[in-house]
This record gives sequence, structure tokens and C-alpha cells, in this order.
Amino acid sequence: MNRSYIDGNWVKGKSALKNLNPSDLDDCIGEFECVDGSQTKEAIEIASNATSAWQEIGIHRRAEILDHIGNEILKKKEDLGTLLSREEGKVLPEGIGEVERAGHIFKFFAGEAVRVAGSSMESVRLGVDVEISREPLGLIGIITPWNFPIAIPAWKIAPALAFGNTVVFKPAGLVPASAHALTQIISESGLPDGVFNLVMGSGSEVGAAIVDSLLVDAVTFTGSVETGRNVLVKTAERQARVQLEMGGKNPLVILDDADLEIAVECALNGAFYSTGQRCTASSRLIVTAGIHDRFVARLVERMESMKVDHALNPGTQMGPVVDQVQLEQDLEYLKIGRSEGAEIVSGGKQLERKTKGYYLAPTLFTETKNKMRINQEEIFGPIATVVKVNDYEEALNTANDTSFGLSAGICTNSLKYSRNFRRKSGAGMVMVNLPTAGVDYHVPFGGRRSSSFGPREQGQAAAQFYTATKTAYISP
Ligand code: NAD
Repeated sequence: MNRSYIDGNWVKGKSALKNLNPSDLDDCIGEFECVDGSQTKEAIEIASNATSAWQEIGIHRRAEILDHIGNEILKKKEDLGTLLSREEGKVLPEGIGEVERAGHIFKFFAGEAVRVAGSSMESVRLGVDVEISREPLGLIGIITPWNFPIAIPAWKIAPALAFGNTVVFKPAGLVPASAHALTQIISESGLPDGVFNLVMGSGSEVGAAIVDSLLVDAVTFTGSVETGRNVLVKTAERQARVQLEMGGKNPLVILDDADLEIAVECALNGAFYSTGQRCTASSRLIVTAGIHDRFVARLVERMESMKVDHALNPGTQMGPVVDQVQLEQDLEYLKIGRSEGAEIVSGGKQLERKTKGYYLAPTLFTETKNKMRINQEEIFGPIATVVKVNDYEEALNTANDTSFGLSAGICTNSLKYSRNFRRKSGAGMVMVNLPTAGVDYHVPFGGRRSSSFGPREQGQAAAQFYTATKTAYISP
């Protein structure tokens, strides 16, 4: 039995959930014990009481521990990547790549732990000095989604610990194995008991207990807009610090002068890698009229030669959808798109493979209007749309015309248009001749409008969320 981890112990839960491989429903990865609300409250109290010990341990030791965790993750990347792909369904190279990224994140924040900078200024009062410093916040509640089961926990846990905070971490119910394996490594890193705690369980009970607790100083959440807004309201009521990363409806603009092969590669990668289940997926392809037909024809050709199969099979380019609920949501959007008058030019159907899994063909809608629901709502599956536009201005306006603003891309050889797009895009991240998905671990990550709320994640920007500023006035 795989258990939660509280106060340095593997704790028996109150119920259990079965973890099935979406590539092969006959493959049960394991049973995972779920804790309940009262056990979560205990974990919160323990983590809250552990803050002083962790702060007093000093930045050098903190850095050593984080570096050790990073090294262990990197050492085990093949096994962890295989586990991740088995439970989430992304193909093995993506699974291993995600684990590598998690390892590098821990190592990056090991460095940041010893670089917490302050500043000093002269006071406007003679003989007084002013010192501005950053302090740990206390206890951080971490709530994560299923689609990046190791990288997202890593980019929240590592900075939380690096800056001297303790952690209560609740992973998504669909991916307990990755969270458990990561916790195993963290539990053997020399961290004092109670500093890091894993609570596996439901969002409505365990997640809500974290969000509602007065002992949790800040909540960092990644997931859907609906859940995120609920977390925002609850944390606002008790004035806790909160950071939300949510959905996207990311546009990839393709202009007439784009290199066709680069544009098609960006679209294929952005829309269908990780089965389109990335918040940064290129779900809207906004294409100017002069290149439209050539682009669609070449993209369809590439899509039809994509190997969709078991995530662990060598050569698979796209694995299954994560579960039945997500599959039904995808199929519903196929119906919605058809009923709105869009045309499916590739895919649009479930696939059968040797093993029973949630396989869906990569799907492309054309003849779409940006106002359609398939262009406004996050589908979160291997489904992309093409919106045909006349020129750059219309492309830019269309790109910005959703409630989201996470990532946006443009494929062009024009310096003028790429420069203008970088400045006028309403997204938090802009890509030129690159897919909208795929970001570095050492620079800020985040979006605008419905996609995000609060300070940026990752890179040096993470310090803004995980520390509190103190201003001291000193008169000798
Ligand atoms: P979700 O909102 O269903 O769940 C996210 C987490 O919140 C889970 O751990 C869940 O158990 C928990 N939760 C559910 N109800 C809760 C409650 N009442 N209180 C507290 N916690 C609760 O999202 P999901 O389906 O796991 O993930 C998919 C979504 O995540 C997509 O919308 C995707 O765009 C988004 N996402 C965003 C980013 C980003 O950085 N912007 C990255 C990855 C995924």
C-alpha cells in the first residue's frame, strides 16, 4: 500500500484509490491510501510547528538538501519517467524529460536558497539606516493537477523549501504514484520531520482543508479555472497569499511568410504532444489566407502519420487521453464543434489498440470562427482548430480574443510582425517560431487574465510569492 507522508512517517489513510494505466486499463499501477480532512488538519499543524526548525537550519544545509533531492531525481530519471508515463499517458521521452526538468528545478532552487538578497538604503531621517530583507512566509499549501505530475510539484515544492517554508502537498488524484515516488526521494534527503508532508486525497476534502486552514500562510494552486476561482475566494476571505495557474486557449499565429515546415512542426508539437493535455497547448491555429491551404494540407499529412499508441511503446508519438472523464469531455467538444459548423479534416474518432486504453486520434477542425465554443473554451485534449484570417492585424486581434492569456506563438520571418506580436500579445509568455508549449525552468512562468493570478512561478521571480518583505529601520 502506498501511503501519505506526515511528520516523517508513512501514514495509513481512511480510503484507497486504484491507479490505472490509461494506455492499458488492465494494468493497475497500485492502490493509494487517501487521508481525510482531519488527517490533513493534523499534517497542517505539524508543518506549521516545523517552520522554526527549518528556518534555523540555515541556508547552506537547505541548499545541500535541495541539491541532493535534485541529484536523486536525475539519477532515477528512467524509472521515474517510466512510472510517470505509465500513470499519466504521456510518451516515455516526455515522461523522462519531465523528470529531468524536475531534477534541474531542485538544483536551481538549491542555488537560490543561498542567494536570498536584501538591500539597504539611507533613511530620509539623519542617522537612521533602512534594511529591506526577504523572510520565509511560513507554511505553504501546494495543490497540483494531473498533467505534469512531477514537474509542477517540483516547481512549487523546491522554491517553498528553498526560501525556508514548510509544505503540505496535495497532488491530483489521478497521479498519486509520481507524487509518492517524489516524496520517497524527499523523505530520504535529510529534511527534518514535519517540514514536508504529502497528503493524498480528494480535492473537496483534503484540498479544501488546506485552502480553509488559518495555519496555511499561502496557497499555490495549478489546475482548472473553476477550481482556481474557488480557491481564490476562500483564500481571499482569510487574507492568505495565493497564486493560481489555470487554463489556456493558446493561439499559434502562422503568417504567409512563415517557413512552412517550421510552422507545421510548431503546430504538431504544440497541439498534440502530451496528447494536447498541456495548459500551454497550441489549441487555436490562426492562419493567414495565403498559406492556409498549404499549411492545413501539410499538417494533416503529418498528423495522419503520427503514431498513437501505448505511451511506453518505442516510437509512440502520442499516448492516450488521461481518463474516461477527460475522454468524454473531448468527445463532447467534437460534437459541439460539428454542431457549430466546423469541419473535421483529420481525426475525430476513438482508436483501438492492442491494449484497452483511452485512445483518441489527433483531431483538426477547419472552417472555424473564433467566437465558436471550440475556440473559446479549454478542451484539454488532442484537438486543435484552424481560424483563417486575412492579415496580421486580424491574426493579432483573433489571438487576443479569448478570456485566457497564458502562452501565444507566432511563426513568421518578419522582424516587424514578430516584434509587434511580442509587444501586443495579451499572453504572459510569447514564442516566436516555437511551439506555445515548452518552457525553461529558470525564467518566470505564468499568464494573464483567466489563466493566472498572483506572482509568477519559477526562476528568480518565485521569491516574490514564497517570501515576505520586511523593512527594518535602525538607529545606532
Ligand atoms: P482541477 O482543477 O480539477 O484540479 C486541480 C487540483 O485541485 C487537484 O489536486 C484537485 O484535487 C484539487 N481540487 C479540486 N477541488 C478542490 C477544492 N474544492 N479545493 C481545493 N483543491 C481542490 O484540475 P486538473 O483537471 O487536475 O488539471 C487540469 C487543469 O489544469 C487544466 O485546466 C489545465 O489548463 C490546468 N493547468 C494549468 C497549468 C498552468 O501552469 N497554467 C499547468 C498545468 C495544468
